[in-house]
Amino acid sequence: MIMPIHMYGTKVWDSPAKKVTKFDDNLVGLIRDMFETMHNADGIGLAANQVGLQLSLAVIDISVMDDYASEQPLVVINPEILETNGEQTAEEGCLSIPGIHDEVTRAQEIRVRFTDGNFERVEKELSGMWARVFQHEYDHLQQKFFINRLSSVKRQILKPKLAKIKRNDVRAKYPVFSAIEEKKSR
Ligand code: ZN
Repeated sequence: MIMPIHMYGTKVWDSPAKKVTKFDDNLVGLIRDMFETMHNADGIGLAANQVGLQLSLAVIDISVMDDYASEQPLVVINPEILETNGEQTAEEGCLSIPGIHDEVTRAQEIRVRFTDGNFERVEKELSGMWARVFQHEYDHLQQKFFINRLSSVKRQILKPKLAKIKRNDVRAKYPVFSAIEEKKSR
């Protein structure tokens, strides 16, 4: 089932994600729906708050990118970043803030611990693109967007664009749920 993607400015971003504690069929179904939602939107990562749920859960699939076609999809539950190393800078975008792209500096390498799609706690070292996408999704679970990592001058410039996103004055190719619809439905 494809779910609408919650945009920047909706209520789900007001409180932090909670730990996943029930590893049941509902969770399996949610993970499947999140992959479907992400693939439909041509995304490479999707956090649960992006589909309106305050859960510490994200899905990643970078295999749609040219250089990463053989990479396997990854389920990330209750993640922790244990160690970071080095720096990398590259352009990022986000399904919850369509139309905005900018260069973001992040750690080049990270050591992480999370529960995977088999519901097993694992520890991994990630670098490059994997480290970038993991950190982007991890940020979402702490209520953050990549724009929070830009300079205040850049964020100031983005204000009109963010206001448009709140009004749903954007053309996304996937179902979205914006602040203005949320206001109407209350
Ligand atoms: Zn994002």
